[in-house]
Amino acid sequence: MSRDPRYDILFEPIRIGPVTAKNRFFQVPHCNGMGHAMPQAHAAMRETKAEGGWAVVSTEECEIHPSGDVSPYVEARLWDDHDIPALALMCDKVHAHGALAAVELTHNGPTASNLYSREVLIAPSHQPSKYGYPTQARAMNKRDIAEYRRWHRQAALRARRAGFDIIYVYAAHDLSLAMHFLQKRRNQRSDEYGGSLENRVRLFREVIEDTKDAVGDTCAVAVRFATEELLGDGGVTLAEAKEIVHMLADLPDLWDVNVAAWYNDSVPSRFAREGAQEPFIDFVKKVTTRPVVGVGRFTSPDTMVSQLRRGILDIIGAARPSIADPFLPKKIEEGRVDDIRECIGCNICVTGDMTITPIRCTQNPTMGEEWRKGWHPEHIPAKGSDSRILIVGAGPAGLEAARALGQRGYEVHLAEALKELGGRVTREARLPGLAEWGRVRDWRIGQINKLTNVSIYRDNLLAAQDLIDFGATHVVLATGCHWRRDGYGRSNAAAITGFESTQVFTPDDVISGEFATRAPAGPVVLFDDDYFYLGSVIAEKLRVEGREVFYVTPDDTVASWSANTLDYRHIQWRLHELNVEQIVAHNIVGFDHGRVALEHVWSGKTRALECAALITITARLPNESLLLELQSREAEWADAGIHSVRAIGDAEAPGLIAHAVYSGHRYARELDAPARGDVPFRRHFHVSDEAPPGA
Ligand code: ADP
Ligand code: SF4
Repeated sequence: MSRDPRYDILFEPIRIGPVTAKNRFFQVPHCNGMGHAMPQAHAAMRETKAEGGWAVVSTEECEIHPSGDVSPYVEARLWDDHDIPALALMCDKVHAHGALAAVELTHNGPTASNLYSREVLIAPSHQPSKYGYPTQARAMNKRDIAEYRRWHRQAALRARRAGFDIIYVYAAHDLSLAMHFLQKRRNQRSDEYGGSLENRVRLFREVIEDTKDAVGDTCAVAVRFATEELLGDGGVTLAEAKEIVHMLADLPDLWDVNVAAWYNDSVPSRFAREGAQEPFIDFVKKVTTRPVVGVGRFTSPDTMVSQLRRGILDIIGAARPSIADPFLPKKIEEGRVDDIRECIGCNICVTGDMTITPIRCTQNPTMGEEWRKGWHPEHIPAKGSDSRILIVGAGPAGLEAARALGQRGYEVHLAEALKELGGRVTREARLPGLAEWGRVRDWRIGQINKLTNVSIYRDNLLAAQDLIDFGATHVVLATGCHWRRDGYGRSNAAAITGFESTQVFTPDDVISGEFATRAPAGPVVLFDDDYFYLGSVIAEKLRVEGREVFYVTPDDTVASWSANTLDYRHIQWRLHELNVEQIVAHNIVGFDHGRVALEHVWSGKTRALECAALITITARLPNESLLLELQSREAEWADAGIHSVRAIGDAEAPGLIAHAVYSGHRYARELDAPARGDVPFRRHFHVSDEAPPGA
């Protein structure tokens, strides 16, 4: 197929200073939890993007000096020449596919940690470190400013030696000194670097000039600039940002613009739609003649074209859409738009960086596995036998297993008890703000429909005897899980007294409509011992339906794990906006006719709370009755032709949708594949103490 001529504009080359990007797809910098610690894995991940057609592929933040060490987070690093080979690896792999490599140089100032380097933090003025470390950053003197400029210049020269084509000066996300000098709350200086806007912009301008002077003849010098922090006068405001862009207009070769901080930039789909940053960045192109890149979780080529045609952007920037589908540009180019695996905006990709582990993605189970497992997002080895596979359950695990096994060429049969496919994805996508999660189902069904070797049987509730009679070589149970009703979980080691009441409901009851039909009118206590998104989503649903909601959690705050997906602040704002009453640090120790017995987790003091109904969100149990029955009938397998029976996804161990997709994909990859031993992936080993090149 060839591409739709409407999308031709996305494939026009564009000049960026001394270099040319072959099209308008730009993978903007994004963290990945691998960085300098796992250079091979990092390079392979970036290579996949270049192979998938992105004209520019960037690193994540790249530290330029030990005094800007962001440990424990693992980003890129160019402290000295020792760091060049790891990044040269990435540049070579990106160049091999005709793409440009970009590096986002940064010194994080008071937003660094220096936990590893043990250097003293530096900042425009004396101030506490951003992330709650019990240290302060000291005010930079003129010599420090000169040193910072020297480090940046040296890093730019090293970046060029590594092979980068585009070198960023970073002033975004509240994460770099160039931005910290712009912010009144961080810059209280009275010299020529503080006070007036012109003074606060001085260092940013100087660093751009330094970088152009150092490498600008052969490399493009880009800036990443936050146009709004949504913090009022203490932060960069849109009004000031407009002045700043006017002041620097054509100095950089490219403007990459967004909203700060990260939680306002990579907003989960629950809280922001595609293209939501437009009102904050649409002025930039009117001010500069340089190309402008922006982001907005763009997955629709029509939206992308609209951004270009309406003069909002020149180049489509993407982090998450490139993670969910590294081959997004190629698919548009080849007229395969319906093959695009669209990002769902769940931000599980962000959790890799937050938990300092390799990036993972709900939609793309191969993300982060390119090197260590040799997984490719588009290719998969052909089947290793003529086995017939029966999969029970068409949730994310079953759908992905069926799709990937089908792609391998196996004969696959997928049975689903319900008329609708998608399992938990379909159910959860009905909750407020989660509609885009349905893309996990839609993409897989779309792909399966293109395969002739995968059959789907809807409205087919299978029993163990059906599985034995079917004649499958391998039986895969992707039957999902259900929420416990008894209150057992992290905070209660046994069932909670009184939870057998008909006034106690689970999230399954809320989603199925059971709660709406049966729950008496009146206030609801929501007991969240799960700590992620679901409690807040259900609270929102109930408030919108007019219920009074008491959100009780044994944790010290609501939805604490959602900090890892950048949801946390948005959840807090939403719960406060909806007047959901939060009762934190309280466990529930009993329930009796609408009286909830609360116990403070630190003082042990008890109190009672009256409600009409209670929703308990504590733990889940796999739907494993089929598995257990089949295991108990193993003696019958041989006659039935069954070689194996496996549970995958939530039926094996309840987790995130990302885990279910990964589980289904892994099953498909590993079927008939050679065993990989006790450690089923490659690792990095650091055994060399070689001198730097040229030393
Ligand atoms: P996962 O997240 O692991 O994919 P889900 O709960 O999303 O799990 O999906 C499980 C699916 O399995 C549901 O759609 C459910 O209707 C289906 N299912 C469960 N038991 C059976 C069964 N015995 N026969 C057919 N389908 C089943
Ligand atoms: Fe998008 Fe979620 Fe994948 Fe991140 S993890 S790229 S938000 S689908």
